[in-house]
Amino acid sequence: MCLNKIGEFGFIERLSHHFDNMLGDDTIGIGDDCAVIPINETEVYVVTTDMLIEDTHFIKDKISATELGHKSLAVNLSDIAAMGAEPKFSFLSLGIPNNMPIKYLDDFMDGYKTLSAKYNTPLMGGDTTKSADKLIINVAVIGKCSKDNVRLRSMAKDTDIICVTNCIGDSAGGLHVLLKGLETHSNFQCLINKHHLPEPRINEGLWLANNKDVHAMMDISDGISSDLEHILAKSDKSANIYLEKIPISKQLQLFANQFGLNALNFAISGGEDYELLFTVNKDALANLLIEYANCFGKEIIPIGQITNNNTKRGINWLKNGKSITIDKKGFNHFT
Ligand code: ADP
Ligand code: MG
Repeated sequence: MCLNKIGEFGFIERLSHHFDNMLGDDTIGIGDDCAVIPINETEVYVVTTDMLIEDTHFIKDKISATELGHKSLAVNLSDIAAMGAEPKFSFLSLGIPNNMPIKYLDDFMDGYKTLSAKYNTPLMGGDTTKSADKLIINVAVIGKCSKDNVRLRSMAKDTDIICVTNCIGDSAGGLHVLLKGLETHSNFQCLINKHHLPEPRINEGLWLANNKDVHAMMDISDGISSDLEHILAKSDKSANIYLEKIPISKQLQLFANQFGLNALNFAISGGEDYELLFTVNKDALANLLIEYANCFGKEIIPIGQITNNNTKRGINWLKNGKSITIDKKGFNHFT
């Protein structure tokens, strides 16, 4: 059997339980946005690592070195945000082709350093090796959190409202712009920026995790059709998603209209938005919406509800009240 039969998540599932019996109490290993490691009675470390490989995750001619430095750290900080934690330290390992100009690496480190400074997360170490022909980047980040504030994918409760922190699909739209070579259209620059310069929702994650009515949380890296399935699987729940509520930016809609594309497909199946996807007690939603808007000057968008449908696990997509089938899946390496 080859890897493409079971895909990325099938492989992770296969390896994930081998180590369960080595974990101490309150330690969480493979399966969430970060591992959780207790420090003492009240605090935990959260740890994540993510890899970016040239021509798999980025095309060197399409993204600047500074943007790549930013993005490499941002995608890791996003997993820290998803846990409700504060980032503390990072580690950076690079596999570099021999002929790489030093200027490129300096620019890369500029982007990395600027984002590190913004979230007060110094680089503490890493590794540097030669790579045959592709640039390989691996970042690990350690964050810290009070034990009570850790938010897991498994924490969704019946009737919770499912929310996102912003419009989704822009990043996938930006990738489409790049792959079609349309980057000279100035109208679409903001979509490309969303793809190259994602902003980790650290402050939003910390704020949400401080609220007891916010239950499950994760970041949107593979697209909600895939990411929400992780929350549902870990929480053993189902969900209704109301397609007309999925927030789509004006820019993405304009782009889709101009090229006869369906903006909703980008929002559902496109990845790399790095917004937060979370569930909140339905009775607390109204207040949360107001307080969040007061604090951040932007809105949380409710898009669906957790259900306990024993006959149909997973996502029930609804369009104007009618159940419909979506055949698009989120991003999955190997399938
Ligand atoms: P995210 O998209 O949030 O970064 P992933 O889908 O990459 O999460 O990974 C899901 C879980 O699987 C995480 O807990 C991650 O640490 C774990 N994981 C992924 N690949 C491996 C691996 N090769 N070895 C051990 N754990 C892995
Ligand atoms: Mg994640």
